Amino acid sequence: MVRDIVIVGGGTAGWMTAAALVRRLAGTGISVTLVESAEIGTVGVGEATLPQIRYFNEMLGIDEAELMARTSATIKLGIEFRDWGRIGDRYIHPFGAHGERIGPADFHHYWLKEQAAGTAQPFGRYCYPIVSAWNDRFELPREDPASPLTHFSYAFQFDASLYGAFLADYAQKRGAKRVEGKIVSADLDGESGFVRSVTLESGTQIAGELFVDCSGFRGLLIEEQLETGFEDWSDWLPCNRAWAVPCAIGGEVGPYTRSTARTGGWQWRIPLQHRIGNGHVYCDRYVSDGDALDQLMTSLEGEPLADPRKLFFVAGKRRRLWNRNCIAIGLSGGFLEPLESTSIDLIQSGIENLVALFPEADCAAADRDEYNRLMDLEFERIRDFLMLHYVATQRDDAPLWRDMRNMTWPDSLAEKIETFRHRGAVPNYASGLFQPPSWLAVFIGQNIVPEAWDPRVDRMADEERSAHLERVRTTIADAVERSSGHLAFIKSYGATF
Ligand code: FAD
Repeated sequence: MVRDIVIVGGGTAGWMTAAALVRRLAGTGISVTLVESAEIGTVGVGEATLPQIRYFNEMLGIDEAELMARTSATIKLGIEFRDWGRIGDRYIHPFGAHGERIGPADFHHYWLKEQAAGTAQPFGRYCYPIVSAWNDRFELPREDPASPLTHFSYAFQFDASLYGAFLADYAQKRGAKRVEGKIVSADLDGESGFVRSVTLESGTQIAGELFVDCSGFRGLLIEEQLETGFEDWSDWLPCNRAWAVPCAIGGEVGPYTRSTARTGGWQWRIPLQHRIGNGHVYCDRYVSDGDALDQLMTSLEGEPLADPRKLFFVAGKRRRLWNRNCIAIGLSGGFLEPLESTSIDLIQSGIENLVALFPEADCAAADRDEYNRLMDLEFERIRDFLMLHYVATQRDDAPLWRDMRNMTWPDSLAEKIETFRHRGAVPNYASGLFQPPSWLAVFIGQNIVPEAWDPRVDRMADEERSAHLERVRTTIADAVERSSGHLAFIKSYGATF
C-alpha cells in the first residue's frame, strides 16, 4: 500500500490536493508531504471558478461565509460573453437552466416556436441567474420547487493566492507536512522508472511511493523526468499568451465574470471584493504583444494596481496524466484557456479520480488506464465546449474569427453542432461538466438557430404556450426584484470591505 505521498508544488493545485488527501485519507496512516519554492512562486492567476468548487469546499467541511471573507470573494452566477457571436451581442452562460418544464418537450423548443411567432422575449429573460446577474442581485438558492430560486447554482470569484493560503493552513493543521525548497533533481528506479525521491538545492532528499506533480506548466516530474509527452491542441485553440493586470474597483461589481471578444483573442474581467482582475488572452499570430497590452490597458475601468504580467501557454494535455507512480494535477497536466474557468475544476476532477482509484504501491496499470481515460474524456469535452465559442461566430472582421469559422472541427464537436442545428437537441452527458443548459446558452447566445423545434410543441395551443412563457418570465422578474443587491448580500455573508 502507498504510505508516503509527495506533492511537488504549492500553487492552487498542490494545496487543493494536499487538503483533499489529508481529509479523505484521515486515519489511514498515509503521510502527505508538499514541497514548494517561494523563489519560483506560483502562476498567480485563476480567480474565476465553477459551482463544483462548492462541493469541494463542502467535502473539506469549510464554512462558505468564512471562505468568502478570507479570499475576498464575490458571487459568480455565470459568464457574460460580449461580442462573440457578432459585435454588439451580449449573453450569459448561466449556472442554471432556462425556463422550466411546461410540457413534454424541453423548454427551449417552446421558446423557439414563440420566437418564430415574433412574441418571445430574449432567451435570457427566462433564466433566473441571468436576470439576477444583470440586475446585480443575489440570493442563496432555496429548496422550494415552486420558486425559480431552486433551479440554479453559483460559484466564486476570489483571490486565488488567498485560497491557496487558506488551504495550506487547513492541510497543515490536519497533518500535511510543508517543505520549503527548490527541487533540483529526481531519482528514478532503474527497472520500473518510478520516481523514488526528489532532491532539494539544500541536498535534502524526499522519498515517496506516489508523487503528485503540481509544479505548474513545466511539469517537473511528469515531463522533465518521465518524458510523458504533450498532446498539442493549438490547431484547435490557438491562443497562446495572456497579459494579466489587477485594477482598482471601477464599474459595477456584478455577480458574474465577463469575457469580451477582441480582434486576436478575448479579455476577462473578474470583480473581487477589493479589486478587479483583468486579462487579455490572445494568439500572437493574430495580434502583437504590444497591441494586446494596449487593448487591455485602455479598457481598464480603474487604476492599475500592479505592472501587467505576460504568461505563455500551449493548449493541450499530457499524453498520460498518470504515468508510472506520478500523477500530474493542475497546469503540469495540461491547460485549456480560461474562457469557461475550467482549470480549477480539472484539478478537482484529478483529485476526485485519484481518491476513487487510490493505488497500491505498484500503481497497477488498470488504475492508471482508468484514471487517464476519465481525465482524457473531461479534457476533450471541455475542449469542444471552448471551441464552440470560437466556431459559432458570425464575426468576419479579423483573421482570427475567419480562420476559426473555416477550420475543420473535431468530429465530436461537429456532431453536436449538427444535431442542434437539425432540431435543437443538446448534448446530454451522464456526468461531468457542461450539461445541456450550458450548451444551449452558448448555441442560442451565439445565434445558432435550429431548423425545427420538437414537434410535440405543436400540440400546445399558441395562447397556452405564450401564457406559460409569460408566467415563467414574470415569476423570475418578480423573484429577482425581491432579492438582495449582490454587494449587500456579501456584506451580510462574507465581506472584508
Ligand atoms: P502554479 O501556480 O504554477 O504552482 C506551481 C508550484 O510548483 C509553485 O508552488 C512552485 O513554487 C512549485 N514549483 C515549481 N518548480 C519547483 C521546483 N523546482 N521546486 C519546488 N517547487 C517548485 N483557472 C481557473 O480555474 N479560473 C481562471 O479564471 C483561470 N484563469 C487563468 C488565466 C491564465 C492566463 C492562466 C495561465 C491560467 C488561469 N487559470 C484559471 C488556471 C489556474 O491559474 C491554475 O490552474 C491554478 O493556478 C493552478 O496552478 P498550479 O498550482 O498547477 O501551478
